[in-house]
Amino acid sequence: RVEIRGVHKSFGDLEVLRGIDLTLPPGSVTAVLGPSGSGKSTLLRTINHLEPVNHGLISVDGEVIGYRREGDLLHELSEREVLRQRTSIGMVFQSFNLFAHMTALGNVAEAPRRALGATRAQAETRARELLELVGLSEKVDAYPRQLSGGQQQRVAIARALALDPKVLLFDEPTSALDPELVEEVLAVIRSLARAGTTLVIVTHEIGFARDVADTVVFMDRGVVIEQGPPAEVIDHPAQDRTRAFLQRVR
Ligand code: ATP
Ligand code: MG
Repeated sequence: RVEIRGVHKSFGDLEVLRGIDLTLPPGSVTAVLGPSGSGKSTLLRTINHLEPVNHGLISVDGEVIGYRREGDLLHELSEREVLRQRTSIGMVFQSFNLFAHMTALGNVAEAPRRALGATRAQAETRARELLELVGLSEKVDAYPRQLSGGQQQRVAIARALALDPKVLLFDEPTSALDPELVEEVLAVIRSLARAGTTLVIVTHEIGFARDVADTVVFMDRGVVIEQGPPAEVIDHPAQDRTRAFLQRVR
């Protein structure tokens, strides 16, 4: 379970997150919608402590991200401890960021070897399973440059899964893809949702959000304007700003 409580984040004078409260139960699929600049990516980045927050707390299964609890006090974690914590929070970006000099198999097997101390054999066995899960059994030995954008993004998803994360964060996973490659990536995300992986997906694919999410969160200017099931937030939004946004993107 991910709990986000009273999170504020500023860059200089710019307050980008202005008090975010969200709870992501195990197995939940949350789609985050909102205009450009509303703070969606920043929110994802605070969850895995790529951006430390100014106020508020984020916890994953009771563990505060970036801090250690001692009684009522919170002590900042060292870089190493943050890296360890981050292994339980997977992230998939718009740009796939694969290692160009490694094969698909190498890309997926690398993190468990480095972060979890898995042996090469263990890491590669698991990597093959994950590449099969994302439909890339044929491409284990291919390098990123030999793969389409959709295939590269599926390798990136397999790589994120390799650490067995408690939650997987997607930041516009299909925005960099040619239209004909979007569906293969969405299909993989859908199958993860069905398998009960806890997911947070920032997306502009409204139809996909409606299909896959059990909760839709609409953000604007650093606050959550409304949240609820897609049948409410997407089909019958209560707030004018949500309505205006949905009309623009449709
Ligand atoms: P988009 O839909 O365009 O991806 P977003 O909702 O993801 O937008 P963010 O990337 O979270 O928006 O950015 C929110 C605001 O914070 C923007 O005004 C952005 O310029 C600013 N911002 C983000 N990161 C930084 C940073 N590292 N330093 C300064 N300002 C930043
Ligand atoms: Mg963004």
